[in-house]
Amino acid sequence: MSELNTVVIVGSSLAGLRAAETLRLEKYEGRIVIVGAEDRQPYDRPPLSKKVLSGEWEADRISLRKPEDLAKLNIDWKLGSAATSLNTITRTITLASGETIAFDGLIIATGSGVRKLPNQPDWKGVHVVRTLDDSLALRANLNPGARVVVIGAGFIGLEVAATAKNRGCEVTVLEGAPAPMMRGLGAEMGHAAALVHTDNGVSMRFNVKVAGLVEGSKGSVGGVALDDGEVVPADVVVVGIGVAPATQWLENTELELRDGVVCDTTLNAGLPGVYAAGDVCRWFNNLYDQEMRVEHWTTASEQGAAAASNLLAVSRGEDPKPYSAVPFFWSDQFTARIQFLGRANGDETAHIVVGSPEERSFVALYEKDGYLKAALGVSRPKQLMPFRKLLAERATWEQALELVSTFVAT
Ligand code: FAD
Repeated sequence: MSELNTVVIVGSSLAGLRAAETLRLEKYEGRIVIVGAEDRQPYDRPPLSKKVLSGEWEADRISLRKPEDLAKLNIDWKLGSAATSLNTITRTITLASGETIAFDGLIIATGSGVRKLPNQPDWKGVHVVRTLDDSLALRANLNPGARVVVIGAGFIGLEVAATAKNRGCEVTVLEGAPAPMMRGLGAEMGHAAALVHTDNGVSMRFNVKVAGLVEGSKGSVGGVALDDGEVVPADVVVVGIGVAPATQWLENTELELRDGVVCDTTLNAGLPGVYAAGDVCRWFNNLYDQEMRVEHWTTASEQGAAAASNLLAVSRGEDPKPYSAVPFFWSDQFTARIQFLGRANGDETAHIVVGSPEERSFVALYEKDGYLKAALGVSRPKQLMPFRKLLAERATWEQALELVSTFVAT
């Protein structure tokens, strides 16, 4: 790879910012350009379904860094104009504004964008939650007594449901799968972790198929139609059916795109000096002998740093390091703090080893072929976190149970 004079980071959020900070921390003195589709300095997304949505926090609380700290990084910001294409021969990217920028190193950190319903109308009252503007627009509609229907019982949908209920709305959640948070936690643990919703009066409906949205007064949503003809009335509909990696601008390049930018263990995307990080990155995680893409905060932060470090290492003739990590995420729903370590693929057996769903507080461990694969904690951070070390060491099920026995003994 040629000398590193300009590093371009596409995506001005968590992974992109962490990449820029790491370049400076590791004494890279060349030019850093950050390109961002949104016309805002980097901000934190988790509060968008929690404290910003509830109104407890105003937008100025969620900046990821203070302006003076950003200034120290000496970044050439190109905000408000998305990258539209990449040319791997000339090593340039083009922005929607028409500007072309040449790079020696490239870090792709374009995250993910929300999935929408087929032909989703843009009527008043129909919302998604990905950006600060989305969250503020939804907040303005969450008035006491409003009938809110959340489509999708994933983490973000359920956080929105809890926040809306706390604001005095009548909330119904519609989910096509048989259980909430099923993709992340599995059916049984998904139900156990979501009991707080029924406790708080959220109506939870599973195995329902949404046929489309129904118009109420002209230009406003009036309800959600199910495939059996029923219409669930709604003043506000939140579509929370997941996200897709933002890779459209990379189509027609030689990069491998398969539900994300496919990378090796070091986050290299298959071309010299080109790395990916965060929600957009599908990489081979040595710890799980498996390719994965993770849509959570901690991974985005760690991968931004790892991609930048590896870009620099290779440019200095050193070996890049594999990014092998235990994935981690949290989700706050009513009083429950859900935390999850590791990866569940759906073929593990989950055992509750501390507390119980009845207490709304427990730890469950996921086992497969005699090994510990993942750990779920609901409002049990102290007992959950020690399993991170065991997961990083590929602990056996027996070792996991030994750790559990020390909890009982103390
Ligand atoms: P993103 O944050 O998605 O940022 C990507 C950026 O790239 C965006 O600003 C986007 O506009 C920009 N972009 C996209 N395409 C282009 C382009 N072509 N050119 C230029 N710029 C582009 N995780 C948890 O672990 N716990 C939580 O409780 C939690 N809560 C969440 C709540 C909400 C409402 C949301 C939306 C996410 C939440 N997450 C949570 C997930 C976490 O916020 C994400 O994993 C994290 O933001 C990913 O960071 P990223 O930098 O990879 O991507």
